[in-house]
Amino acid sequence: MPSSSEPQVHFRACTLCEAMCGIRIEVRDGRVHSIRGDEEDPFSRGHICPKALALRDLHEDPDRLRQPMRRTASGWEPVGWDEALDDVAHRLYALQREHGNNAVGVYLGNPNVHNLGAMMFAPELVRSLHTHNRFSATSVDQLPHQLAAYLMFGHQLLVPIPDIDHTRYMLILGANPLASNGSMMTAPDVRARLRAIQQRGGRVVVVDPRRTETARIADQHVFIRPGTDALALLALLHVALVENPPRLGRLAAFVDGLDVVREQVRDFTPEHVAPHTGVDANTLRALARDFLAADGAVCYGRMGLSTQPFGALCQWLITVLNVVTGNLDREGGALFTRPAFDLVGGPRALGLGRGSLGRWKSRVRGLPEFAGELPVAVLSEEILTEGPGRIRALVTVAGNPALSTPNGAQLERALERLDFMVSIDPYLNETTRHAHYILPPVSPLERGHYDLAFHMLAVRNTARYAPPLFPPGPDSLEDWRIHLELKHRLDMLRHGTRLKDTLAYHALKRLGPERLLDVGLRMGPYGARFRPFRQGLTLAQLREKPHGVDLGPLKPSLPQRLQHKDHRIRLAPEPLVADLRRLRETFPKARVSSPRDGELLLIGRRHLRDNNSWLHNTPGLVKGKPRCTLMVHPEDAARLGLVEGKEALVTSRVGHVTVPVEVTDDVMPGVVSLPHGYGHQRPGIRLTVAAQHAGVSINDLTDDLALDAVSGNAAFSGTPVRVTSAAVTGVGASTPAA
Ligand code: SF4
Repeated sequence: MPSSSEPQVHFRACTLCEAMCGIRIEVRDGRVHSIRGDEEDPFSRGHICPKALALRDLHEDPDRLRQPMRRTASGWEPVGWDEALDDVAHRLYALQREHGNNAVGVYLGNPNVHNLGAMMFAPELVRSLHTHNRFSATSVDQLPHQLAAYLMFGHQLLVPIPDIDHTRYMLILGANPLASNGSMMTAPDVRARLRAIQQRGGRVVVVDPRRTETARIADQHVFIRPGTDALALLALLHVALVENPPRLGRLAAFVDGLDVVREQVRDFTPEHVAPHTGVDANTLRALARDFLAADGAVCYGRMGLSTQPFGALCQWLITVLNVVTGNLDREGGALFTRPAFDLVGGPRALGLGRGSLGRWKSRVRGLPEFAGELPVAVLSEEILTEGPGRIRALVTVAGNPALSTPNGAQLERALERLDFMVSIDPYLNETTRHAHYILPPVSPLERGHYDLAFHMLAVRNTARYAPPLFPPGPDSLEDWRIHLELKHRLDMLRHGTRLKDTLAYHALKRLGPERLLDVGLRMGPYGARFRPFRQGLTLAQLREKPHGVDLGPLKPSLPQRLQHKDHRIRLAPEPLVADLRRLRETFPKARVSSPRDGELLLIGRRHLRDNNSWLHNTPGLVKGKPRCTLMVHPEDAARLGLVEGKEALVTSRVGHVTVPVEVTDDVMPGVVSLPHGYGHQRPGIRLTVAAQHAGVSINDLTDDLALDAVSGNAAFSGTPVRVTSAAVTGVGASTPAA
């Protein structure tokens, strides 16, 4: 670890988004001097985006907490680790003893999946809480992908990945990889990869209610009404299966349910869905024909689809389209990864569970668990609704649900009702300001890193490990140690000093995330276990390859990779087929459902310099023109008297905000767009830079009652809102309704 004044160079992967770009960090005098792309990284080949520099800013940020904090009547005060951990464990356990285990809830935020220690040890802490009230950012994000993968392929993480580097036709719905850098499709320098499709004679087509950055470089962009993508996909399938013969190819030998799907799509003609989607029938037919004609085509959909009331249907139908056109498990189509640390096929103890559905239900609304978690949209009602089993204490880990979950203002009111709250988090933010304790982990540069999650989702198989760049600060504890110490204390309170728990604690403490990683690599598909007479991949080898190792392109792997016991694909899982009925009722043939008079449909958006709510305290990423604006089509602006740069009042069922207007034909008429992750005007936060660029939270408008009924995922996309000029109404405050 660098400590002298000699310049030193360190290589690692950036952990600020899913792209895993290799970076080269130069350190001088113990400080980060520069961060550049690592030209020798076999995957990212020198690419980085403007966010990479934020790694230095996060490390040096004076607002980042560096020792545990306790909230008192006179404000926050520092406290020692042992005292904090002891008190937290005692208070959680006392509430569970009095009110039952479900009285404690736990929420895991998205940054955990970028953190080796948290990936390994947060599940240990969650298990030690013995509660059914588990929540995470999954249910405001990729849950429909995981549900479809679980039902179709037998494992929640067996998600097909677009073979972007070989495809000749890429159909993108509700995704903006130029801003996200690829999501559920780790693909550093996605712009170059999309351009390469065009350079080899292929086409990129984007279907989205907004002309996104990706749509601008695509060969074709098609506007679609928010919330209707499932209909468009059904129409494509109608053309592929009813108007043409299916083309499963070798997949036919292990696919079940084709006839069921063909019958279900029979009445979804392009003519039927056109009035609902706003996409004319000829365009839908042409899209289907182009998809069928391409020698290697792939359909890919992301947040804009997953966060609809039919999110699970969308992700299922995308995969069905790839299957029935013979584009699953083939070069240029969608393929499964073969990562060095395999969370799907590896040892059960080191992987994630296959998934589960409906083992228990939420107390108030009766929504089913998926993979051991309940939809986070029910978290506030589970705190606010009196009765046995009410959540009285909450543990949050690297999450900011006040800004990132629907009806965030209601959730904040719920957090105020808790008897106790602890946050494992480096910041005093919109969520953690409600906590009684904040336990801050080390910075991303003070921990070793290997991407357990994103190698599972990458468009190429690679592996890369980096040790910590800096030693932890004097009062710091790594994430995994916080989880383990808290778990150990809870276990002791619950079970006394059981030999089993004590041995497990000491074993895990000795192993730490790095040794567990080594075990997983050795037992993985490139590890020594499967190559008894040759040297297999180990952590020691990765340490010697600071730029990472290339394990080759994605390759066909079916049916062996399938995780159902019979190694078959379930093309027509019952819960998803059943949900088509709800779709038919919502969009009947005889009537076009449209927003009520005067209502517009609100969609989110993301900017390359943003990542959820995390990076707004980084000066370099928030400078320039304010990005938190309401995009409005010129026709709607004229009709509603909205003026560029002036404030509009936006009202939904749950709240209202005022926000500057941006008049643009990049959104379709009837649609408005706000970015997510803003809303830093709340009092009591310690985010000096973010507070100066506060914006408003889209989740003060999104509705906790709007869900995808099958998966429980929040349905952010297409929230009905009314928009008026704030000057006319005289409202000037950006406050959600009470
Ligand atoms: S694209 Fe993502 S991983 Fe790459 S530098 Fe930017 S934030 Fe980091």
